Amino acid sequence: MKRIAVLGSTGSIGTQTLEIVRKNPDLKITALAAGSNVDEMEKQIREFSPRIAAMWSEKACGDLRARVADIDVKIVCGMEGLLEIAVMEEMEVLVTAIVGMIGIRPTIAAIESGKTIALANKETLVTAGHIIMPLAEKRGVSILPVDSEHSAIFQSMNGENAKQIQKILLTASGGPFRGRTKEELKNIKVEDALKHPNWAMGKKITVDSATMVNKGLEVMEAKWLFGVGLDRIEVVVHPQSIIHSMVEYVDGAVMAQLGMPDMKLPIAYALFYPDRRPMEGKRIDFFQLGTITFEKPDLETFTGLKLAFRAAKLGGSMPTVYNAANERAVSLFLERKIGFMQIPELIEASMEGHKVISNPTVDEILQTEQETYEFIKRVIN
Ligand code: NDP
Repeated sequence: MKRIAVLGSTGSIGTQTLEIVRKNPDLKITALAAGSNVDEMEKQIREFSPRIAAMWSEKACGDLRARVADIDVKIVCGMEGLLEIAVMEEMEVLVTAIVGMIGIRPTIAAIESGKTIALANKETLVTAGHIIMPLAEKRGVSILPVDSEHSAIFQSMNGENAKQIQKILLTASGGPFRGRTKEELKNIKVEDALKHPNWAMGKKITVDSATMVNKGLEVMEAKWLFGVGLDRIEVVVHPQSIIHSMVEYVDGAVMAQLGMPDMKLPIAYALFYPDRRPMEGKRIDFFQLGTITFEKPDLETFTGLKLAFRAAKLGGSMPTVYNAANERAVSLFLERKIGFMQIPELIEASMEGHKVISNPTVDEILQTEQETYEFIKRVIN
């Protein structure tokens, strides 16, 4: 029996994780956490009987407590609640499927208690990779990627010598606006940005895919996860999303992982690693597929990706600014307060106004996040 806790259990990755748990009786849910979706959390508690469940806000916590008063479950709140889950004695694998930097502290606490991390929350590595990766190594903890591209890279490294990697080829679908010009992107509506051609995901990451900021965050995530320099990470646009990423080795051999675009595969791979479990669903039909194609990313139109390379190169606290500015800009776009192209503009302005702190502590990262939010508030007002 493998005991797992899911932070962000009501979201896209969280619910797909629970679908896998539902089909595999040797997985047991010990804890669940979400932000404010009390309805869904109540259903999940009734189905999976966790020992602890957390909600972010006091109000949601109180509501949930009242609703599940008939069940033996401990309800905890806020960051304290997430931290209590992260160090639960009986828990072995922590699935970090929260959105945003809120995931940093629980991830660190879980690593310190020796838990395996199934990591979806890429913002954690983007902003605090310099703290998390050395800590995981020191504690002998595995960080197993859930992101499909990073899982593909991880799978393409099976049995290989990581020192012999020539480069990582990070594939990108190009999003719904691939091939458009900057001018054509000016009047993009929220509904258009939420139509991803291949993947069904949470709203924030879907917009990030449309701006290609998601790929930028993934470049930074890959740098930390696989210890490869930025000059060895190349983004390859592959609109069919069949190859989920590739690794080229020093002899020119390229290893790739292919599959249908379904997040359940990388989630299950992280949960059962190194085993593979039978999984239902569509398989690749190569004859029907016929052709797959590749392109260079258009960095002049999708400036969010270009800025990610700049932020990663500057390092220190700059990736935090990049991530926080994007997070706030995406919220404003979803609230229809700014246009689509203002997302990269706000990221750039935030980065320009920031003085890099090298090797920031967690407090400095969170402080930088707040300062970036305040900067954007001033700009928007
Ligand atoms: P969703 O928006 O679908 O879900 C987010 C989850 O986090 C929800 O359960 C939400 O709860 C919870 N949450 C939000 N804020 C808090 C908080 N303060 N405290 C506790 N829980 C909170 O996101 P996704 O599942 O799409 O993405 C999750 C992470 O995984 C992101 O980092 C994303 O980049 C990454 N990822 C996602 C992929 C995907 O296919 N979706 C693919 C690869 C990576 P509530 O519902 O109550 O608001």
